[in-house]
Amino acid sequence: MTLPAVADCVFCKIVAGQIPCFKLLEDDATIAFMDINPVNPGHALAVAKGHWPTVDVIPAEVLAAVATTAQRIAKAVMAKLRPDGVNLMQANGPGAGQSVPHLHIHIIPRRPGDDLLFNWQPRAVERAEIEAVWHRLKAGL
Ligand code: AMP
Ligand code: ZN
Repeated sequence: MTLPAVADCVFCKIVAGQIPCFKLLEDDATIAFMDINPVNPGHALAVAKGHWPTVDVIPAEVLAAVATTAQRIAKAVMAKLRPDGVNLMQANGPGAGQSVPHLHIHIIPRRPGDDLLFNWQPRAVERAEIEAVWHRLKAGL
């Protein structure tokens, strides 16, 4: 597969070796490296080598490869850094907090009291509200 690339994309530049990174591993479809602004020690990224911005446009087999790379990194994080837990996080679009529009999965080691906002409180929702959204979603599948 020819990998799409975008000239002014920071992750495309890392893939091309034009800017440095703390590389953890790479294979044909993916690369993994340390996040340059970690939210916790050990925060790493599993990144598609090709430039696909978001989950809806990346080929399924490339997404699977990125997930496999994220799993490899998560296993190493768990074995070597022994965190309290690990979150995998993947953002799509600025409304979801995506700052680099080149698909990647965050591997985030968790520590007690780190106050990251993943551990949300569920809100009370009527079953009818869930059902209404369920109908709309099913229509798109
Ligand atoms: P997101 O906000 O989900 O798009 O995540 C993008 C991540 O890329 C952020 O956590 C940044 O700290 C990280 N990042 C940006 N530039 C670099 C870089 N040159 N090397 C490593 N990580 C980077
Ligand atoms: Zn890119």
